Amino acid sequence: MARPTVKKPVETLALEEAFELLEGLPVPVFFKSRDGRYLGVNKAWEEMFGLARAAFVGKQVRDLYPQNPEIAELHALKDRELWQRPGSQSYETPIVTPDGRRRDTIYYKATFPGGLVGVIVDVTARTRAQAALRESEERFRSVVDSANEGMLVYDRNLTVIAGNRAAERIIGLPLAALIGRPGFTSQLPCIREDGQPLTPADRPTRITLRTSRPQSGVRIGILRKEGGASGAVQWLSVNTAFLRRLDETEHYGLVSTITDVTAQRDAEERLRESEARFRRTFELAGSGMAHIGLDRRFIRVNRRLCEILGYPEDELLRLTGRQISHPDDLDVINDQRPALYAGKIDAVRLEKRYLRKDRSTVWVKFTMTVERDAAGAPLYEIAVYDDITAQLDAQQRLRESEARFRQTFELAASGICHVVDGRFVKVNKALCEILGYSEEQLLGKTVKEVSHPEDRDVTDAGRMRIRKGELDSARFEKRYIRADGAVVWADLAIALVRDPAGAPLYEVAIFDDITERKQQEAALRAAHEELKRSNAELEQFAYVASHDLQEPLRMVASYTQLLGRRYEEKFDKDAREFMSYIVDGASRMKQLIEDLLAYSRVGTKGHDFQPVAAEGALRRGLFNLRAAIEEAGAAVTFDSLPTVHADEAQLAQLFQNLVGNALKFRSASVPRIHVQASEREHEWQFEVRDNGIGIEPQYFERIFMVFQRLHNKGEYPGTGIGLAICKKVVERHGGRIWVESRPAQVPNQGSSFYFTLPRHKGGEGANG
Ligand code: ADP
Repeated sequence: MARPTVKKPVETLALEEAFELLEGLPVPVFFKSRDGRYLGVNKAWEEMFGLARAAFVGKQVRDLYPQNPEIAELHALKDRELWQRPGSQSYETPIVTPDGRRRDTIYYKATFPGGLVGVIVDVTARTRAQAALRESEERFRSVVDSANEGMLVYDRNLTVIAGNRAAERIIGLPLAALIGRPGFTSQLPCIREDGQPLTPADRPTRITLRTSRPQSGVRIGILRKEGGASGAVQWLSVNTAFLRRLDETEHYGLVSTITDVTAQRDAEERLRESEARFRRTFELAGSGMAHIGLDRRFIRVNRRLCEILGYPEDELLRLTGRQISHPDDLDVINDQRPALYAGKIDAVRLEKRYLRKDRSTVWVKFTMTVERDAAGAPLYEIAVYDDITAQLDAQQRLRESEARFRQTFELAASGICHVVDGRFVKVNKALCEILGYSEEQLLGKTVKEVSHPEDRDVTDAGRMRIRKGELDSARFEKRYIRADGAVVWADLAIALVRDPAGAPLYEVAIFDDITERKQQEAALRAAHEELKRSNAELEQFAYVASHDLQEPLRMVASYTQLLGRRYEEKFDKDAREFMSYIVDGASRMKQLIEDLLAYSRVGTKGHDFQPVAAEGALRRGLFNLRAAIEEAGAAVTFDSLPTVHADEAQLAQLFQNLVGNALKFRSASVPRIHVQASEREHEWQFEVRDNGIGIEPQYFERIFMVFQRLHNKGEYPGTGIGLAICKKVVERHGGRIWVESRPAQVPNQGSSFYFTLPRHKGGEGANG
């Protein structure tokens, strides 16, 4: 160390000693005289400024900063201040050393008699560190604030002490509401990932403390009630970390970062759903489905495809489609693959056969597309298989049944046609024959065109009802005009064919030529009419004749009587005998004529039918027979009898004739006559039973004919008209009459006369 060049009083000596001491200090030290000249500097000073002590002693501060006079000026100013108030001073100032280095320094100066001492503390490193820290803190703050992630800082007691803007935004609460509180989950309704309410123990911060482990990706849902609708959940993902000082092992707080993962979660949910949907669709599809690798192997097959191809899934996954193809259809897909891969066709669509594991053949409708990556390179193939075996079988059967039907249609003896909009659209040979047209002529014609003008509309109402669904089919008889102009009668059955939805497709009509039958019917009707007319004429004639014959007969009888009275004594025995023959003949003729008149009256003079108590009619008949019944000592009995619809006088006559005959044709035993009626399905059946002489079966028919009798009048009186009248009465009422008797087998059993009367209003009609 250089010795100051000043004199050496005590102070100077002390200074020298001080110099000795300061030489070894690592801090730059300098001495200056009162007039600002450097008296001495230490080694550290020399190093700092890069100047040799010997060269600088005696120089002033402006010599130290030739480049930076403002620094020199500052120090000079400070020196002046110090000298104005001697003592000590300190100030902080950046300086630039002669070699251009910038240093942050603190100057400590103190005066002593004759000069001042200065110590320079280089704080460059410290201020730089402080600036860097400040900068880093600011950077950090802005990063934290601009982060998308919410952040909350907690103290050791888990009270929020800081947070960022993202936290405010995500949580939806201002920081002011969060700071000083135990986090947001205490302030909002929160749920765990499993949907259960979040308890304080579930909070990520608590878990972190409890387990001493930072948490990551803890999902928390906030129940949001927007517009009153509940159920909207905002999902957050929360991470936590301990806050520790560098040199400490104990934490002083926690930080949690929060991300809103609602959209992500929704997207995940949708993806999961869509995947599940796809999987379900794939599995449950009614069609067989497969993903096929570029090596042609099945990558993935659904249940239906296993069913269609008849292989279990694990076996199918080891096969290629070609290996199970029908030998005749081996390359039908391969033929189209190049076009599909080149994008010339969007899909391969074809029908082909596969051989199932059990070697049976299955027909498949096959559709295949290719799935590509973003660059368009094929990834795998998607194929859909539909089993159309049954469909093809059904088509085959349909074709066969159609052929069968066509044959039937053509060969049918009946005419058959299909009609649309009243027009023939299909006709068979038989119909052409019936109508006398060729098929070409008939097709396109309307049915009405070939109908008889008078019968054109007879089917309209019936067909309308079929169309409305009220009838399945309807039958008609109508006339058509043949091509040659002849009238043809057809028995016609019409039905309507509908599609599966019930919409009308066409009418089917079946024609049978009934012209001949119709002609026979017409002839029969004409004959019947003729018969009725001639019958009526005959009846009229019988009536008129018998009526008119009575008069001359009466004359014969009365003049014969007169002749007898006046000339009896003049007649000899022969003449008297002849007379008696004339009288007898005349009276018999009178009886015959009266009977004939009565018979013809049944048809011409009957009364209207009315409800009649049969018992009343019977009693009337018995009343007329009372003398004969008494005379014969007969027992006449009857059961209760129904009320019938009849001409009462004729019904009484009927009973009278039958009971009368029973009395007349009695046997040796006392006559027992019984009348009864029994109910049949459509009619009442009456029986008049006697114990008389009975009738041999060969006469059963004859006895009902006019003037037919089995005995001569000597044995039993009568003209043989009684049963003919009975028959006529019964028939006029629409009934039948017959007799049962077996005198040969069962003697003394007599006869049973039966007749029926319809139970409904029936018979000949109101006028008889
Ligand atoms: P008539 O009584 O005038 O002979 P009918 O026409 O009443 O005529 O009867 C025809 C014939 O039928 C009778 O002559 C008789 O031979 C036979 N006949 C009718 N009723 C009976 C009866 N109840 N028993 C036996 N014979 C009968």
